[in-house]
Amino acid sequence: MTEFTCYLVEKDSQNEVKSGLTRRSLADLPEGEVLIRVAYSSLNYKDALAATGRPGVARKFPHIPGIDAAGEVAESTSADFKPGQKVLVTGYDLGAGRWGGWSEYARVPAEWVIPLPAGLSLVESMRLGTAGFTAALSVDAIRRHEITPQSGEIVVTGATGGVGCLAVSMLAKLGYTVVAVTGKADRHDWLKQLGAARVIGRGDVDVKGGNALLKAVWAGAVDTVGGNVLTTILRSTHIAGCVTACGLVGGAELATTVFPFILRGVTLCGIDTGWCRRERRLELWRLMAGEWQPARLAEVSTEIELKDVDAPVQRILEGGIAGRTVVHVAG
Ligand code: NDP
Repeated sequence: MTEFTCYLVEKDSQNEVKSGLTRRSLADLPEGEVLIRVAYSSLNYKDALAATGRPGVARKFPHIPGIDAAGEVAESTSADFKPGQKVLVTGYDLGAGRWGGWSEYARVPAEWVIPLPAGLSLVESMRLGTAGFTAALSVDAIRRHEITPQSGEIVVTGATGGVGCLAVSMLAKLGYTVVAVTGKADRHDWLKQLGAARVIGRGDVDVKGGNALLKAVWAGAVDTVGGNVLTTILRSTHIAGCVTACGLVGGAELATTVFPFILRGVTLCGIDTGWCRRERRLELWRLMAGEWQPARLAEVSTEIELKDVDAPVQRILEGGIAGRTVVHVAG
């Protein structure tokens, strides 16, 4: 029986978490049509939650984190995929309800598998990963709401994070004027190099009190933070603006009046990469491999080995990582 290396998170009867590299056999993997020999995965905020046994991502233990995976098909019972074909998986239940990509092998339903689009290598696909796909869904929502580069400034919060920095890059590439919000004073130049026209501090979009509506300054927003930052942005968005919401690093609560919606026609657009339908997924991956591909993709990402994930896991939980972290798994 083929054995492989994976990063396993276990909980004992006292709920103590133990995690690290271990060996498992292919028979331990869940059912599915496609067995992938994983070359790269990545580190996302959700992976850090799963790797430390925190609630909200992994639904049972033992668990293998990794909401992203890219590699070659090792075995397939689906006519759509052939051994040796390069593929990627992001979202669905990977690394959450099902064992994920921090493993030399992952077995998944064929429906979840995306052929690696022309224009991307395996490592590049994981530099994008779920974060890139989230950024792309957010940008797509803004475009679908007829916000054009002429409409005005687009604000991106959590801008040095995985989703944020890729949203800044993609929007800038598409000609939008991007205002990046960051808590990292030493990253302003970096964000400008990625395409931000201006960089502002978190406090500028975290207004407490005052009128229900603030001065309208944003044509659109990619918010990764949630909480009062999202509330503030809704209060500050122009007539017919579009605000996308994907994250909660700043809080899961949302306190708002209806005034942004009924007096300015602002749209609050939820972003869920997990269960986005397949046709849209394929289309956005095609765009990310081509005209939407961030110009400095290699520069926004750091590569680490699977055995070294523990320190970056702690750093991402503390909000201390800038850009993307690709996890080299094997090959
Ligand atoms: P990262 O950890 O890479 O980035 C988050 C960034 O948010 C940080 O770099 C920091 O940026 C900022 N930040 C951190 N803590 C706070 C805080 N307390 N208040 C305000 N800002 C803060 O995460 P990702 O970019 O991968 O993900 C961002 C969010 O999106 C997460 O909540 C994640 O769970 C969610 N997500 C949701 C998806 C979906 O399908 N809905 C898919 C992917 C991610 P800076 O220092 O520049 O301010």
